[in-house]
Amino acid sequence: MTAEAARDSLKQRGIRLTRQRQLLLELLDRTGAHLDAESLYQLAHQRDPKLNRVTVYRTLKLLKEGGLVDELDLMHYGGDQHYYETRTKQEHAHVICLRCGRVEEFYGDPLQRLRRQVESHFGFQVLIARTEIGGYCAHCQVLRAQEIAEARRGSGEDVEPAAVPAGDEGERRRRGARG
Ligand SMILES: [Zn+2]
Ligand SMILES: [Zn+2]
Repeated sequence: MTAEAARDSLKQRGIRLTRQRQLLLELLDRTGAHLDAESLYQLAHQRDPKLNRVTVYRTLKLLKEGGLVDELDLMHYGGDQHYYETRTKQEHAHVICLRCGRVEEFYGDPLQRLRRQVESHFGFQVLIARTEIGGYCAHCQVLRAQEIAEARRGSGEDVEPAAVPAGDEGERRRRGARG
């Protein structure tokens, strides 16, 4: 969304696009990432040291209400954390790795198809659709397989002898060796 389009969108709702609001929109737009409020504040504060947290949080809420920014929870990967992105991009699904938190964006016709199907099936007017898919990225699948294998090794045959107090085992063995 251009600054002008953003200004119009806010104006319709009686909200002025101030310099600070513009800055936050720009930062969100430029990073293209899904930033939480704190990260956005840190970035914004570097650019404008006068900006404080309260303003950033309040502005995010305003931009969200103005329909310029989307608020996401990304499968609650980060707990109660919310993430923000501008609504300039084409509709996309978020694919979230529940292990490392990596977020991929899936664009494509299936999303538009789903929207059309919902509209015709329910006679529904879709205003906004949000699709989130959680799982493990390719990298984390490998790491998880290793972790699971290690856990199995740890809890398999090795565990029973290890569960016997090592001192006793050692005692017996030493005694056995001596006797
Ligand atoms: Zn991952
Ligand atoms: Zn996104």
